[in-house]
Amino acid sequence: MSFAFAGPSRLADYGWDAALENDFTSHRAAGLIPARVAAVDRGLCDVVTEDGPMRAGTGPVASCDDPAAAPCTGDWAALRRGGPDGRPVVAALLPRRTAIVRSSASRDSRGQVLAANVDTVAVTVSLAARLDLGRVERLLALAFESGARPLVVLTKADEASGAVTDAEAEVASASPGVDVVSCSATLGDGVDVVRAVLAGTVVLVGPSGAGKSTLGNALLGTQALATGAVREQDGKGRHTTVRRELLPLPGGGVLIDTPGLRGVGLFDASEGLREVFADIEDLAAGCRFGDCAHRTEPGCAVLAAIEDGTLPPRRLASYRKLQRENDWIAARGDARLRAERNDRWKALTRWQRQMYKERGRDR
Ligand code: ZN
Repeated sequence: MSFAFAGPSRLADYGWDAALENDFTSHRAAGLIPARVAAVDRGLCDVVTEDGPMRAGTGPVASCDDPAAAPCTGDWAALRRGGPDGRPVVAALLPRRTAIVRSSASRDSRGQVLAANVDTVAVTVSLAARLDLGRVERLLALAFESGARPLVVLTKADEASGAVTDAEAEVASASPGVDVVSCSATLGDGVDVVRAVLAGTVVLVGPSGAGKSTLGNALLGTQALATGAVREQDGKGRHTTVRRELLPLPGGGVLIDTPGLRGVGLFDASEGLREVFADIEDLAAGCRFGDCAHRTEPGCAVLAAIEDGTLPPRRLASYRKLQRENDWIAARGDARLRAERNDRWKALTRWQRQMYKERGRDR
């Protein structure tokens, strides 16, 4: 499999447009070239440029201690040619329109940006397995929080145990206002419907077994996701293995497929949770007490809705569970920030003390 990158219009296949070109004006004037980050790995990143794919140093933007400031898949970068080792270097990143963030697996509780400038987050759910609506709600919260447009794709419709329309209705009850579509990527049924609701830069999220790779390949019309890395020529004609984490879709749009997106959790997604549970938020506005916890309070509109069957009890339980989880992660993040602030303050006092000592010596 080979990819020929040719012509200056190539970057448009990766989402480059007039608005971005406008944002890039000052960088152009400084002699920098635009690039989209495809993958990042230990201080180097694979980027696509108007001149084809390149390997670039992550440069000064990655050396500050905030992991969220480092380049990530989907970022638009301003590249300076000919860095210290001959490689181009990322000199700046364009402001991110959206970002999918997760808490890192380590004790470091700061958020890690998994993908930037995503327009559509498709939550994939297998109809071949038992529906886990709580997981759908969790992923939708993350999607809303990122700023991208969420939607739900029910996969493996050909393996559904019951009626697909029933499953669609059940999932729709857990995702008010979000499009729910179903397909069988293996048979090719409904893939055109999925393609029609996807826009711009797209990511597929969901547990393993949800059929993300099969759906991704059906959308791409290739087996690119199954084959993994392919060899391409870099800007200097050398062969380099470029991981395909940023894949143009035929007919427009880009698919981001990064391994990190496969097991995402929540990260301070309080805004996203409010969006996913907008029905409960709306009901809560009608509770008698402003600080109603919807447990035993008189005049509680949420409990009344459960009583009369308009709100499934599962949904309130799921909301509470995800909020607890989110509060815990947010608190952990706060503790980390406090510790960092203390460290910075200590360093500053040390520096001041040193300065005073040296001044005293001068006198
Ligand atoms: Zn209430």
